[in-house]
Amino acid sequence: MIPLTKDTRWECQRCGRCCIELTPPGSKLGCPDYDSVMNRCQIHDKKPFSCRIYPFSPYLKEIDEECPGVGHGLLIEENKLLNKELRKLAAVFRRKTRRL
Ligand code: SF4
Ligand code: SF4
Repeated sequence: MIPLTKDTRWECQRCGRCCIELTPPGSKLGCPDYDSVMNRCQIHDKKPFSCRIYPFSPYLKEIDEECPGVGHGLLIEENKLLNKELRKLAAVFRRKTRRL
């Protein structure tokens, strides 16, 4: 992970790496919910929090530099839609961790 800065850009490249490689330990074939033919998540509306927020850290302080989307697209701080979504996710994370 590297720090998120005002110069960080990100746009998903739909490479599928996060579904193929970043799967639970022991899983060799990638996530079972990944459709490798269509290159998409089959449970998009129900996918877990970790998938929703990837490649950002839950408190939005860092980003996974292994994600090929890093360096592409708009500056994160100028991307209103992304910022709105990330703020929502971070709020969900804070609520969940308060309950633990
Ligand atoms: S690894 Fe990054 S660029 Fe590739 S699909 Fe996942 S989020 Fe998108
Ligand atoms: S649940 Fe969906 S987004 Fe998450 S790793 Fe599996 S296919 Fe990818």
